[in-house]
Amino acid sequence: MLLSRWLADPTGASLMKLPSLPRLIRHSREPKRTAQELPRLIALPPAPQLANPAGVQAYAAACFAAAGLADWGFGWDRAVSRLGCCRPQQKMITLSRHFVACYLAKDAGMVVRVLLHEMAHALSWEHSRATGHGPVWKAFCSALGIPDEKATVRCEPFADPVRRPYRWVLRLSTTGEVVRYYHRRPPSLTPRRLAACYIPGRRRETYGKLTLQELRDSQAQENPRR
Ligand SMILES: [Zn+2]
Repeated sequence: MLLSRWLADPTGASLMKLPSLPRLIRHSREPKRTAQELPRLIALPPAPQLANPAGVQAYAAACFAAAGLADWGFGWDRAVSRLGCCRPQQKMITLSRHFVACYLAKDAGMVVRVLLHEMAHALSWEHSRATGHGPVWKAFCSALGIPDEKATVRCEPFADPVRRPYRWVLRLSTTGEVVRYYHRRPPSLTPRRLAACYIPGRRRETYGKLTLQELRDSQAQENPRR
């Protein structure tokens, strides 16, 4: 209690009269909507024989138009561990060019499925600014014909073309022990952040002693994922 307040009211009785503080309420990211507001079925053009990335792009544009996402764009990214991405701020859906290159020949249906997964994110955003894999997203998955869609889609490794060498390494400065390799400098590991990093389970000996080091060409480590 503040000294001035205590002097005025040493029993603290006035404190009892203070209105209770409002409870902190964690607002869900998805505003509540009734089921009727969500479409039951979105008629998409039939999936053609997808033979090349240009075909995927053309089919995506046709699907966007059919689903009311005509002002959204389609593009390619170079991701090696995720298949697709929805960027609401840019109104863009991108698919990994490595994933599509690998899967078009053996399972084009998987490419379409990832496209629809991302479209469900775009529709959720347009409908109620909803992000993530909540009920709105699930409802749009059903409307797009993929009712069983999961938040995480797993597939076989597709990153064959990207055996890029690791260019950065996170080391324990005291012993030189390598903690992790990176293809590029991890933007989140700022000097300030590094100063508060440690190896889990070894806090005492490693706190603030991790350093990022760029590898020279001769030191670059080949990516062991094959
Ligand atoms: Zn998703």
